[in-house]
Formats: sequence, C-alpha cells, structure tokens
Amino acid sequence: MSSVASAPVRVRFCPSPTGNPHVGLVRTALFNWAFAKHHQGTLVFRIEDTDAARDSEESYDQLLDSLRWLGFDWDEGPEVGGPHAPYRQSQRMDIYKDVARKLQDAGRAYHCYCSTAELDARRDAARAAGKPSGYDGHCRDLSAEQIDAYKAEGRSPIVRFRMPDETITFTDLVRGELTFTAENVPDYGIVRANGAPLYTLVNPVDDALMEITHVLRGEDLLSSTPRQIALYKALIDLGIAKEIPSFGHLPYVMGEGNKKLSKRDPESSLNLYRERGFLPEGLLNYLSLLGWSLSGDRDVFSMDEMVAAFEISDVNPNPARFDLKKCEAINADHIRLLDVKDFTERCAPWLRAPFAPWAPEDFDEAKWQAVAPHAQTRLKVLSEITDNVDFLFLAEPVEDEASWTKAMKEGSDALLRTAREKLESADWTSPESLKEAVLAAGETHGLKLGKAQAPVRVAVTGRTIGLPLFESLEILGKEKTLARIDAALAKLAA
Ligand code: GLU
Ligand code: ZN
Repeated sequence: MSSVASAPVRVRFCPSPTGNPHVGLVRTALFNWAFAKHHQGTLVFRIEDTDAARDSEESYDQLLDSLRWLGFDWDEGPEVGGPHAPYRQSQRMDIYKDVARKLQDAGRAYHCYCSTAELDARRDAARAAGKPSGYDGHCRDLSAEQIDAYKAEGRSPIVRFRMPDETITFTDLVRGELTFTAENVPDYGIVRANGAPLYTLVNPVDDALMEITHVLRGEDLLSSTPRQIALYKALIDLGIAKEIPSFGHLPYVMGEGNKKLSKRDPESSLNLYRERGFLPEGLLNYLSLLGWSLSGDRDVFSMDEMVAAFEISDVNPNPARFDLKKCEAINADHIRLLDVKDFTERCAPWLRAPFAPWAPEDFDEAKWQAVAPHAQTRLKVLSEITDNVDFLFLAEPVEDEASWTKAMKEGSDALLRTAREKLESADWTSPESLKEAVLAAGETHGLKLGKAQAPVRVAVTGRTIGLPLFESLEILGKEKTLARIDAALAKLAA
C-alpha cells in the first residue's frame, strides 16, 4: 500500500477533442492510467467537448481510436458507460446550468456586465499604476438600479465566480506545498454571455460529481487549481461536492531548442508515431520517462512493470525533454522483444498499399517469413520494413542514384564479374558459402569484404544499406541475384 491513497482511488482523463491527439495528452493519460492501476482504482474517461467551435466529432473518433490503439482501458466513460453517465460534457449542459444557478442563488457567483473594452481599459490602467491587473470585482455587488441600467443598454452578462479574499494553499502531489495569494486569483468567468458554461466551471463540477479523488494533469493547468479549489469549497457548501481532490501537476515536455513542445509541433502528433510504425508499448515506455523513471534507471520495461512501480511522488517536477532519438532507440528495443510471429503480423500494414511499392501478387509469403527475423534485429520503427524488403518483391531493385554513385567505383565492373562467377558455383543453401564467394572475389581484386560487398549489395537491392547481405541473397535466390548483377554490369558498360 502506498501513502498517497487509502480510500478508493478515482482518477480521470478528460481531454478536449480539438484535433490530433498529441504526446502531452498521451503522457497525461498514461500517468493517470498507471496511477489508477497501481492503486486498483477507477479511471474515468471524460470528454470535455463544451467548446463547440473547436471540438469535432472527427477528433472525438480519432481520440478513442488512438487510446484503444495505445492499449488503454478505462472503467467509466464513452463506450463502457458507468454510474455518472453521460461522460461527454456536451450531453451534460443541464447539470452545469443548474449548478451555475445554485452558485448565483447562494451569492457565490454573480452577473458581470463589463464589456471587453471596459475590462481592457481598466486592466491597462491597473498595469500602468503597478497594481494587480486581474478582474477588479467591479460587478461583485451591483445595485438593482445599476443592473437595470445595464440591461436597458442591452448588455448580456457573463457569470463570474466570487473568489474568497483569502490565500489558498495546497500540497501538490508532485511539487509539494504551493500558495496563491488572493490578489493573484481574481474572480473568473464560469458562464459565457450566451449561456454556454466554461471549462472553469464544468471541469471541477464534473470532478466533484464523478467523485474524483486525484487530479493528475499538465503543469499548464496549475494556475487554474486555486480557482478550482475555491469553487470546490463552494460546491461542498452547497452539498454538491464531498471533498476537495488532491492535485498533481505533471512537468512540461520540452521540444527542440528547449521550447515547450506544443500541440502544433509536428513531432508532438501521435498519428506521426503511429504512421512511422512505433509500437504502442515502445512509445508508452518512452513517454513514461517524461517525468518519471523506473528505479535503477532501467530504460526499457513493460507497462506492467511501470504500473507496479508507479508512485506519483516519484514524478520529477522539472521540465522533461522529448528526445526523438531515445524514443526510437527504446522502440527498437521493444521490436527486438516481440516474438517473431507477432513482429511479422505487426509489419503487415507496411507490406501493402499505400506503403508497399510492389504489386500485391508479387508479394511472396515464404520469402517474407524467411527475411522477417533478420529485419526484426534491424528496425527502429516498423515503417522501415518496406524499404528493407522491397528488393524481394519488386521485379527490379529500386534505383537509388546516391547509393549507385557511392558503391560503383572504378573497377566495380571487374569485381562484379568475378563475384558473379564465384556466386554461380557457390552453395545456395548457405549464406556462409555466398559470403565466401564474395570474399574470394574481393581477394582477387585486392578488396576487403566490406568494399567487395558494396557493389553487390547495390546491384541486388538498389541500396548501400539494408539487411544482412548474404541472407538476403539466399532468400532472393540464385537466378534473380545473378540476373541483377548482369543488369548492373550492363548499366556500368553503358
Ligand atoms: N480538457 C482539459 C484539457 O484538455 C482537461 C484539463 C484537466 O485535466 O483538468 O486541457
Ligand atoms: Zn463586471
């Protein structure tokens, strides 16, 4: 048992469906999921889709698809239901209107009639005078006459939450004790002038109604926490909430140039990793290291191991750096760990259109099964499989000019002719024999194996780098190998 939680743990993951899922969002989902599992708690998945202008059904579908692909499961939420359904905020509008009403009736929120221009002007003046520049409480206690006058002008008010004039202190699960003074947390809007409830209201209201015990989320939301704690207190007074949850703010993720990785950075898009053929377990393993580590600093581990070890108090509050190279290296390790059958199955999408350049009927299952174990020891990401095996399924090797220029030197034709001769009489049931043939050809021309095999590789596969050459030749077969060397000799002669 951990010190963090004795009562049943209820955490939530509550993204807004506003575009492609990004790695920051996945990291938040992962830490909540691992925390819930570690404490045998409940993970609530809620969709924060109250921003009709930015949310879309397509993003919602994509989000669910991505989370399923990553292998997450949740105990309550879309597709699985639960005692607090519905779990899409767009379907809970009546609840929020009701709560906003109750807050106003209790004097904990009020109508604010200030126009944007008025707010801006007063904020600028406060700044110029060196005073706190947040909302100044102008409409906190308007008289009935003032309200009538504003209404007569045709103004429609927003609803503002009345912050208590007190310092708010809480113990962040990651950052320790944090204190916010009242002047830094002004009254804030909870319902728009058009009646639409805002994130500032619906997020804590749902956390309260869904009896969330721990809020784990990104550091970017830290400034909303004192406001939410104050709102929570009001909800408790109104009998709507039971207890204020604990909060833990996960560190920022930094990208290139030590800038915060933004949703808009291409390398933050989850789809990119999926399309490049990252394994979900490789990607999650890497993302878990953004602010956390397994004891002994072991980099490669399973999600079961993470769940067993995950303590929120071990999360490091300092910004974490997203390192694509390391992400790839960890993914490569997970590729090695697959059993070969699993590996071949996971490569399947990249062995057909639109990725594969060969015609479907030219794909040869036996050759694929033979080459797969060699590929499994080489790939960083699964999408690399296509280029690595295309020499087996294309009628002719790809034309890669750079590889050709690099490998075909003065004397390459003579080398290739000798290699062809030796290969012709080699034992084609053993890669060792093929290696000896090329080694012998090299010796004839005073070349070491590395130099001797480069023109052979480019003649046969089209590229200077690829899978182990002699295994590749064996799998391609004698006839095709010799024909390709002939074609390269013809090209060299021309
Ligand atoms: N919907 C919010 C977001 O995506 C959730 C914030 C939270 O976890 O409280 O930023
Ligand atoms: Zn106002």
